[in-house]
Amino acid sequence: MTRIELRNLTKTYSSAGKEVAAVDNVVAAIEPGEFFFLLGPSGCGKTTLLRMIAGLIEPTRGAVLFDGVDVTWTSVEGRNTAMVFQNYALWPHMTVGQNVRFGPRMRGMKSDKCNEVVQRNLHRVQMVDYAARKPNQLSGGQQQRVALARALAANPACLLLDEPLSNLDARLRLHMRGQLRRIVKESGATTIYVTHDQKEALSMADRLAVMDRGGIVQIGTPQEVYHRPATRFVADFMGEANFIDGRIASTTGPGGVTCVVTPAGRIMAGGACGGGDAATCCVRPERVAILGAEDPLSNRYDSVLHAAVEADTFLGEIRQYVCRLDDDTRWKVTCLSGLGETFPEGGKVKLCFNKDDVSVLA
Ligand code: ADP
Ligand code: MG
Repeated sequence: MTRIELRNLTKTYSSAGKEVAAVDNVVAAIEPGEFFFLLGPSGCGKTTLLRMIAGLIEPTRGAVLFDGVDVTWTSVEGRNTAMVFQNYALWPHMTVGQNVRFGPRMRGMKSDKCNEVVQRNLHRVQMVDYAARKPNQLSGGQQQRVALARALAANPACLLLDEPLSNLDARLRLHMRGQLRRIVKESGATTIYVTHDQKEALSMADRLAVMDRGGIVQIGTPQEVYHRPATRFVADFMGEANFIDGRIASTTGPGGVTCVVTPAGRIMAGGACGGGDAATCCVRPERVAILGAEDPLSNRYDSVLHAAVEADTFLGEIRQYVCRLDDDTRWKVTCLSGLGETFPEGGKVKLCFNKDDVSVLA
């Protein structure tokens, strides 16, 4: 297990005579044994950052530390990391067993010890029965498990995974999430996993870093990043989100309440907000309750906005409304569906939520 520290890590490329930062001044610390995600849209610098940690790309500025030791200029081999790629990269002419055996053997491990390492790691990924097969006789999910076993056979202190599930079909990807998390946590390796898929990160990560245009925008647990997004970009990227701009009318001390006045009504937000009086409120659609215009139950909520239903979509387990607030802002509301009251298109409603369901964005 290794603690990984990134200090002002930067990689610039020159493009048409201009310096462009693929990774821009990244600062982060990943704890020993942590399953850490780099999440962001395509082109935001995830692969470049991961490859600098592996030693495959030299940084322009900044440092990588493993357990406090500067490894910025240490070779790939000297770092005790192992990497798994999107396209498996198994050797096609070797059997599954030989693929896993190759690394330990090359490092001079004795033959019977190698057998043990191969067995143990194939067992970890539940591929013992396939040891004699060639990669082209395996499904994509099985190939990716072998790639993982091969990476783990090196007994790496750090495991680096670059979109390892992206080549699999949707069902298998879902199934592999749980398996991969189990295998990674059992191995004890500090693991960094790169993905553009927010559901993958939310469902597997201990903590995640959201990246945008080369920089890290927010680091936190899945719950924190989803329910307390720091910026509009993070809120949007992590899932559906409703926004409305307003200004802070009053705020009380720490742990208190902030009142934001918006063109659609007053919104109460948990916690004190400092810095300037303009504010954007963000509320997730599943945290909004939709009630009839005359329903007295709205008294139980901290904030109530009046709206009209524009669209109503039944999706089986959930029902989704699009509503228009008094200032014409559109908000989405998601409810668990049932045989209870529904709200017709064109009808007047109240959108209700509590202060802890509101994030005031920077
Ligand atoms: P991601 O993995 O998040 O999709 P990358 O790290 O691959 O993003 O790329 C980040 C940015 O850096 C992109 O704009 C990409 O075009 C650019 N980039 C990556 N590698 C090079 C390179 N070798 N030369 C020039 N630009 C590059
Ligand atoms: Mg990439």
